[in-house]
Amino acid sequence: MSKAVQSKQVHLTGLTPDELTELIADLGEPAYRARQIFAALHRRRLRSFEEMTDLSKELRAALAERATAATLTVESRYISEDGTRRYLMKTHDGLPVETVFIPEERRDTICFSSQSGCPLQCSFCLTAKLGLLRTLTAGEIVEQIIIALNDAYGVGAKTPRGTNLVAMGAGEPFLAFEPLMKALRIMAEPTGLYIVPNRVTVSTAGIVPRIRELATIAARPHLAVSLAAPTDELRDELMPINKKWPLDELLDACKEFEQSLKPGERFTFEYVLLDGVNDRDEHARQLANLLNRHQLRAKVNLIPHNPAEGLPYRPSSPERIESFKRILAAKGVRAFVRRPRGRDIYAACGQLAARRNVNNLNAPALHQTG
Ligand code: SF4
Repeated sequence: MSKAVQSKQVHLTGLTPDELTELIADLGEPAYRARQIFAALHRRRLRSFEEMTDLSKELRAALAERATAATLTVESRYISEDGTRRYLMKTHDGLPVETVFIPEERRDTICFSSQSGCPLQCSFCLTAKLGLLRTLTAGEIVEQIIIALNDAYGVGAKTPRGTNLVAMGAGEPFLAFEPLMKALRIMAEPTGLYIVPNRVTVSTAGIVPRIRELATIAARPHLAVSLAAPTDELRDELMPINKKWPLDELLDACKEFEQSLKPGERFTFEYVLLDGVNDRDEHARQLANLLNRHQLRAKVNLIPHNPAEGLPYRPSSPERIESFKRILAAKGVRAFVRRPRGRDIYAACGQLAARRNVNNLNAPALHQTG
């Protein structure tokens, strides 16, 4: 089927149960058929109508004419020594999408992308070099999870552990707010993937209006905010989005969000450590003072930078990271060092495409701060 035709078709994976029921009613079929198809797509994780053998041949043919069950294709897959799997996928219109599956003892984590490329220009991130290619649809977000689970466990197979999701792949998730929230609603369906928002973390570079909006939503994912610098001067340089929403404004919104937290909800700051740039003792003191001034109690995840061709930064030494963490702790700020996974396949966020070539648009890299 040509790409043009496929792109005009309805992508069923991105439909809510109600939308699916409407489409099925249009085909003159009863509502229970929609429930059957929803379960086939999301619980059984089938990616073609031919596999849905509990549907009549006629219905499968009618569906194939107006809709598609799958739009992403896996271009390549890398498996790390530690079991981390990284996928380069392609949309129906040829754009790169990157997803990482990280097996962990208690739960698996899937790091997914919300955009192909990214319009923000964080200086420590390879994805920034691609610019924004396109925001992904809800269906494309959900499909990344389906593909990763099927590859790890087999099509439709029950997963032995629970699944956590993190929107820390390529793109700024809050610039994909509507498709992201729709994808989360679809994935939370008990008759489908059943991954509830409480299992999802969204990492933002600091889109202030969306942080405020998220604070008003009841069923919402956990929030992580990437800081990367303790002063506006340095953050303007590392994360130019700071010129639009400077630190004080960002942290005011974070405070509002923190005040809206319910029991069991998590809110964290991410801080990528770049050797000699933002990792000195004075930066740690400034960061602690900043968070304390805004009376923020959120913990800070310190993320060791993975060096990559095309990025002008080196990772901080383990001693430097420890010293940074100690200073934060001494000033009452809880900090943790994020253990990098899949280093041998460049699976730490923001690093993945380094090997593939940052000039090649088919080689995206993930959100550095995740
Ligand atoms: S770090 Fe995230 S927000 Fe910044 S350019 Fe990279 S993908 Fe975009």
